[in-house]
Amino acid sequence: MLRRVLQLGLGRGLPTRGLSTRREGSTLDWDGKVSEIKKKFQSILPGGAWNPLYDTSHLPPEHSDVVIVGGGVLGLSVAYWLKKLEKRRGAIRVLVVERDHTYLQASTALSIGGIRQQFSLPENIQLSLFSANFLRNINEYLAVVDAPPLDLQFNPLGYLLLASEKGAATMESNVKVQRQEGAKVCLMSPEQLQNKFPWINTEGVALASYGFISSSNRMKTSSGKEVTLKRIYEVHVKMDHSLEYQPVECAIVINAAGAWSGHVAELAGIGKGPPGTLQGTRLPVEPRKRYVYVWHCPQGPGLEAPLVTDMSGTYFRREGLGNNYLGGLSPTEEEEPDPGNLEVDYDFFQDKMWPSLAQRVPAFETLKVRSAWAGYYDYNTFDQNGVVGPHPLVANMYFATGFSGHGLQQAPGVGRAVAEMVLEGHFQTIDLSPFLFSRFYLGEKVQENVII
Ligand SMILES: Cc1cc2nc3c(=O)[nH]c(=O)nc-3n(C[C@H](O)[C@H](O)[C@H](O)COP(=O)(O)OP(=O)(O)OC[C@H]3O[C@@H](n4cnc5c(N)ncnc54)[C@H](O)[C@@H]3O)c2cc1C
Repeated sequence: MLRRVLQLGLGRGLPTRGLSTRREGSTLDWDGKVSEIKKKFQSILPGGAWNPLYDTSHLPPEHSDVVIVGGGVLGLSVAYWLKKLEKRRGAIRVLVVERDHTYLQASTALSIGGIRQQFSLPENIQLSLFSANFLRNINEYLAVVDAPPLDLQFNPLGYLLLASEKGAATMESNVKVQRQEGAKVCLMSPEQLQNKFPWINTEGVALASYGFISSSNRMKTSSGKEVTLKRIYEVHVKMDHSLEYQPVECAIVINAAGAWSGHVAELAGIGKGPPGTLQGTRLPVEPRKRYVYVWHCPQGPGLEAPLVTDMSGTYFRREGLGNNYLGGLSPTEEEEPDPGNLEVDYDFFQDKMWPSLAQRVPAFETLKVRSAWAGYYDYNTFDQNGVVGPHPLVANMYFATGFSGHGLQQAPGVGRAVAEMVLEGHFQTIDLSPFLFSRFYLGEKVQENVII
């Protein structure tokens, strides 16, 4: 076995419950009293060797069972489920490491927060159904005793996807799968569409699928060559105000670094072998810049507007109650903007988005762009689907990444799946084996027809 050290450009360590701060070999011992107190605390805190006389809060812990790289929605979801499910295996120490506690570039903070059931893969549908249920019942999961109930301002308006003549048959078969999986989705003819949403111009639309958020609880239960396995033994963490990296020994590393997870995988040597081999297969996740524009339109669709996705790929939804809307469009491969910065290209709205917005909703002929931002998709260049579970060779690196434009909505289910894999060795609630890393080496794309 090779000893691997994962040197990460890390900033702040967020120790979770059960972690203690200490440095062995730097303790004071007066009349044996400190040792006595220390012993007491050691027995209370799992793995603890806390020393009340030496403040080590500027240092990361020396050991953690699991280190999660990335404190976005996916990393935090994995942490949540590990702690929630740990009872089955005994307490485990979890360290979430986040390099930017302002979350200025994190996809989680820059997404548009949509959640839909209109996928074609049963696994994706199941993940989103679970998330809808999780969000509806958020207080069952995340409420804090004696604190006011959480209000996520969850606004379940559903998605409305439009299909042309060419895409109608695919939409029909997708909806069949969605219904089989328990999603509440209906197909609408152009006439039905016009009746329900009179502000839509149905020209060129052959079929629409309208999904509303259900509170269903239904879940599916899942029932060569020699290669050298590698293992990460420690992760190097740099705390705020510290000049040096400190090693944190760990048993498992979760790569939840979003758009930067391809880079984190490289730090662990993933993809560094000869091309065409498993060792040489990289994690195909990279940052792809996506714009979101917010516009004001007093004559716009109003309160009932779902998240509409036009055949052109342009999507929009209502934002708040003040006649504001927000939306975006993924550029073509040739138009991909430079991901080196998060500057907004306003011409993209003017030239690429506005024409199709105005065509679909005539009221959008007159609008005023109020603001805009750009964020990174954690873009999986192989098949635009998530990567979940352990790496086949660097056996203690697990992935929770690559969800491209749908990672936010799937985070609750993905976190649970990764925690199940870590604690039980297999997926228990939703079988996410199609999302394993090995598909990149085998060349087996996960075929999801509804990527936005
Ligand atoms: C414009 C836009 C719209 C979107 N709309 C939707 C939507 O409607 N619905 C939906 O479901 N999804 C949507 N998404 C996608 C969704 O936002 C992402 O899939 C999801 O947020 C990914 O979460 P994450 O935790 O993996 O990534 P992030 O939130 O980016 O978190 C990763 C974290 O890892 C940290 N990190 C990276 N490298 C290191 C390191 N070496 N050390 C320590 N920390 C590190 C980063 O600082 C970052 O905070 C959208 C994305 C964008 C950009």
